[in-house]
Amino acid sequence: AATGEPRYLSGLNAPQRQAVLTTDGPVLILAGAGTGKTRALTTRLAHILHSRLAWPSEILCVTFTNKAAREMQHRMAALLGQSVEGLQFLGTFHAVAARMLRRHAELVGLDSNFTILDTDDQQRLMKQIIIEAGIDDKRWPAKALAGHIDRFKNRGLTPAQVPAHEAHDFADGKLIALYTRYQARLAELNAADFGDLLLHMLTIFLAHPDVLAGYQQRFKYVLVDEYQDTNVAQYLWLRLLAQQRRNIACVGDDDQSIYSWRGAEVANILRFEKDFPGATIIRLEQNYRSTAPILAAAGGLIAHNGGRLGKTLWTASDGGDKVEVIGVWDGPEEARRVGERIEALQRDGVALDQCAILVRAQFQTREFEDRFITIGLPYRIVGGFRFYERAEIRDALAYLRIVASPADSLAFERIVNTPKRGLGDKALQRLHALARAQGKPLAAAANAIVQSDELTPAARRALAALMQDIARWRDQLGQLPHPELARVILEESGYLAMWQIDKSPEAAGRVDNLLELTRAMEDFENLTAFLEHVALVMENEASEATEKVMIMTLHGAKGLEFDHVFLVGWEEGVFPSQRSLDEGGNASLEEERRLAYVGITRARKSATILHAANRRVYGQWTSSIPSRFIAELPEDAIKSSDTLSGGPSLWRAALGQADPFADVARGTGRGPGWQRAATVEPYSGALGGRGRNVARAAPVEARASAVSFAQPARKD
Ligand code: ATP
Ligand code: MG
Repeated sequence: AATGEPRYLSGLNAPQRQAVLTTDGPVLILAGAGTGKTRALTTRLAHILHSRLAWPSEILCVTFTNKAAREMQHRMAALLGQSVEGLQFLGTFHAVAARMLRRHAELVGLDSNFTILDTDDQQRLMKQIIIEAGIDDKRWPAKALAGHIDRFKNRGLTPAQVPAHEAHDFADGKLIALYTRYQARLAELNAADFGDLLLHMLTIFLAHPDVLAGYQQRFKYVLVDEYQDTNVAQYLWLRLLAQQRRNIACVGDDDQSIYSWRGAEVANILRFEKDFPGATIIRLEQNYRSTAPILAAAGGLIAHNGGRLGKTLWTASDGGDKVEVIGVWDGPEEARRVGERIEALQRDGVALDQCAILVRAQFQTREFEDRFITIGLPYRIVGGFRFYERAEIRDALAYLRIVASPADSLAFERIVNTPKRGLGDKALQRLHALARAQGKPLAAAANAIVQSDELTPAARRALAALMQDIARWRDQLGQLPHPELARVILEESGYLAMWQIDKSPEAAGRVDNLLELTRAMEDFENLTAFLEHVALVMENEASEATEKVMIMTLHGAKGLEFDHVFLVGWEEGVFPSQRSLDEGGNASLEEERRLAYVGITRARKSATILHAANRRVYGQWTSSIPSRFIAELPEDAIKSSDTLSGGPSLWRAALGQADPFADVARGTGRGPGWQRAATVEPYSGALGGRGRNVARAAPVEARASAVSFAQPARKD
């Protein structure tokens, strides 16, 4: 290293340095997992600030999750030896776009305090619109139509821009009209959905060149992580913002593109060179994360995909355990085995948060939760999403939202009769009618209606009391610390009490969750900041520092790393998902394979893959065959250990306990449990009827026969 060179450059390899020091002009860093892309990007940001090439507020830096943004901020502080304030435009696409949109909301007919709707609100609103339009919402469910609208938004298309032929086949040809109406309703509600955050900004940029020019001027540098997962709207937005100064650096890996279902386009990588001619392309090839067998397994797997840009990956580390593949009887046993492994690691001094369980679908987490609660192993379901999706949390948030923004009718609707206040359907209908007639938010209509004699005296009293409560809480907004206010609201509204007196088994958990919510609020400056955060929590959040086993989805694990990774449920129909198999196309299967690649490459020291012969999916027991991805792993990088090779006695023992089929066999003696078991022939298809025990004992043959996986056993 040259003398006087900033400390943060030491420890970077040559291409990484180039990625940091090439500050002028467009740069594309294209490299495989664990090669230090994110590290290079973080250092680049530190370098720009350290060299005073720009002020923090003049940098746009996009990360894929909120957590990644926080981490980048931390690491940068470590690199520079001081924390950096004022990086207003460091965050996810949504967070950054939301911040921008608040400044210019009036240009698209919103107030700057607009609400950000989540998926649930979005679908409720959509449902109202579908019904209002006289469309059969059984045939055209709100969820599906909202999905179409999302996809238009991801492509940067406003209702006027949607090509007619694309909308033609949906909702009796009314999809564009519904989209138009939906946008109008959002405006009335002073609300935006996630897609709007970017779409509105695009609209503003195109209609108000001065606003765009302001940002083009401001952003001296643009940095983007996980670039392979940007969608068209995000790409257009970036391109507009970077076009003037052209100092844009994007890092990505085409093999880790896992969001095409959300509109991401790998083609954006190819487009980059066209839109930013003369771009410096940097390739990083040394992997610093994983052992050689882990890399070999991941590399061998992803080699089954076609149309890759192609990359070299190597590691200087030698040794390392082979990737272990473990076959087990059923889901509970899978959880048991993983629990044992982690306890053993813990005894060897491994920190729990260096152990991660990566699932393909949310439903898989419960089995692990159950097991870990039983054995007292601390765990964390990483995915703030899950927490904030819970009904009690959504109710509590609705109370907070209506206090923060009186026009939030969706929030008002959610809490007006929760807990029950004796406001019947009739009263609510009246309220809605009045709100519609007067073009007012529901809360305003409620304030008016309690002055009239439209409602029964009882209903009027109940509603008036609620409105008084809300007014009082609003007064307290500036006086009480917001977590305290939340506690007051939960108590005074009777909402907390509703769960405290509830006798159902999950009520206690709900009370805990509500308390957890008020605790979570303490991390935020004020209520608005908290609500904004919640609205933006789409990605996994891990805010607690205490050591816990991490359980998360493969999607949520992107960009992260752990010493020990457990990849569970590698079965046809679970992973690859049934959906990807049903679609039948190679594209969706290849996306699943990229997801598997992301999963394996999260591991530093060990990766363990598990598959179960039986699994309960949405309450139904089904037999499974191992994922084709197992068969695609290079043999010399893996070792198999099967717990089912113990011969028939082991199977009998398992059946004797009858636990896998306990719910089916209930009370029927030699009942359906046995019949069901008798039809479980997970391997017969794959092995030409040689039987499952043979298959378990002969993983090589099982692999060799994987080409005949055309008929997966799962039928859900
Ligand atoms: P992914 O594709 O999974 O997002 P990435 O390319 O962003 O991976 P990083 O997360 O930046 O990779 O780096 C992977 C690991 O390698 C990190 O622990 C990082 O600190 C380490 N690392 C990166 N570059 C170097 C280096 N030059 N020397 C030592 N360690 C490095
Ligand atoms: Mg990264």
